[in-house]
Amino acid sequence: MSDCLFCKIVAGEIPSKKVYEDEYCYAFEDIAPVAPVHILFVPKEHISSAGDITPENSAVVGKIYEAVAKVAKEKKLDGGWRVVSNCGPDAGQTVFHLHFHLIGGRPLGVMVSE
Ligand code: 5GP
Ligand code: ZN
Repeated sequence: MSDCLFCKIVAGEIPSKKVYEDEYCYAFEDIAPVAPVHILFVPKEHISSAGDITPENSAVVGKIYEAVAKVAKEKKLDGGWRVVSNCGPDAGQTVFHLHFHLIGGRPLGVMVSE
């Protein structure tokens, strides 16, 4: 997608602080971190949100989670960490290219209860 911020970051047209890259996904530091570790994992292929995951494109989600687990180990997030994917405006999604926030490095409190 020519008009997508994260497609441009994947293509190197907009600079980012790369943390990890493979055939399927790209990971980079969030520009406005909410914790000592705050990394965004995106598929290289444009998928707008978690609501657009289908049988045809879902394999990349597993690949992204493999990358998340690897990076969490590298960053020594041994006490725990959280993955968040906001889908749609009510959830606060602001960039409409599927992404997974890896957040950690401090106690995160309870986000979902009941
Ligand atoms: P969302 O709100 O859609 O779940 O998450 C979008 C995230 O992208 C936010 O945490 C925001 O800080 C991050 N972000 C927005 N623009 C940029 C950018 O140009 N570079 C980087 N590295 N992060 C960005
Ligand atoms: Zn995109």
